[in-house]
Amino acid sequence: MRKLAPLALLLWLGVAGAAQDQSKHDSTDPAACKTCKPAFDRAVQFVRANFRNADVAGNAYAGLLFLMLNPKDNDLQACVQTASRAIGGRTGGNSNWYIAISAYFLSEVYLRTKESSVQGALVNAINTAANTMEQTGGWGHSPGFWRTNNYHKKGGSRDLGMVTSMMYSAMINMKAGGIDIPEALLRRVEKHLESISDGQGFNYGSDNKVPDEAMGRGGYVFLGLTNAQMDNHPFYPKLVEGLKKRYKNVDKGHACASLHHYSVAAAMHRAGNYATFAAHWLDKLIAAQKKNGSISLGCDRGDSHADETANAAVLAIILLLQKDGAFKAEGNKVEWKPAPAAPGGKTNANPFSQKEPPEKK
Ligand SMILES: [Zn+2]
Repeated sequence: MRKLAPLALLLWLGVAGAAQDQSKHDSTDPAACKTCKPAFDRAVQFVRANFRNADVAGNAYAGLLFLMLNPKDNDLQACVQTASRAIGGRTGGNSNWYIAISAYFLSEVYLRTKESSVQGALVNAINTAANTMEQTGGWGHSPGFWRTNNYHKKGGSRDLGMVTSMMYSAMINMKAGGIDIPEALLRRVEKHLESISDGQGFNYGSDNKVPDEAMGRGGYVFLGLTNAQMDNHPFYPKLVEGLKKRYKNVDKGHACASLHHYSVAAAMHRAGNYATFAAHWLDKLIAAQKKNGSISLGCDRGDSHADETANAAVLAIILLLQKDGAFKAEGNKVEWKPAPAAPGGKTNANPFSQKEPPEKK
């Protein structure tokens, strides 16, 4: 190309500069793409070297990466064991975070491996969660945590939309995997989620109407609904709309940025919109990768809450999700029906305004 007409050059630059520079990417497999491979390899290497010392989120997102690479990955087994130890019978401090993040991770593992030990850990998690739920139907940091210094009136909330979204997703995934979840428990959580809906995603919590700017909370719910093929669920179309409208805000999520980046990317992949997400984010994230392979994902608290392993794992996952079917939905279809008609025989248009069915003994 010795002589390129200036107009043609300008046109080419205009198109290429529009979003992700397609000429830089020669494969949707990050292990084969000339631009993605060095970033992908460094991120995976960082995760493998550090996940054993990571926090609960780092362990879970490392595990999700290993699961996507190969459900028989040896390092995945180590993450499963760590997550299984993190979830049973905890009730203080940030216990519900440990349970929610680990249960969500293990539920995705279970759908793909059907290991009985994972099933046992999940049942343990949900039994604990059923006892740590707030009166609202959601979960806070731990039961009653909100009473500490009136946390719920000082920017916190009795319950946290992110924890509740993860718990709900884990329960739907379990159901799609054939594990029995009490219907009344599910309905109660759904009703609560409906009460904190921001129209598309889910608010920070009952006492704090900060919306789901990044769609990170909605992303987890969407992953559960797609695993269970619950596309007739009233949340479903709202979540699709929210993801399409807000994917550019994935770095605007509260606190741990990795939580939002992961679920929004995976949900966009599930929704068939990943090329759009990648076009906006991929080159920016690759350019921001640190020398050690991890990345600062940016959020409203800087990196103070960030786990480097979680961030590196989520970067690798974002690169990996370019591949069609890298994280496809698994699980049996769960029939979703609106709650029973109100007395008088009229079907209520909004199933969540119904009274919940009586608790089964
Ligand atoms: Zn690439």
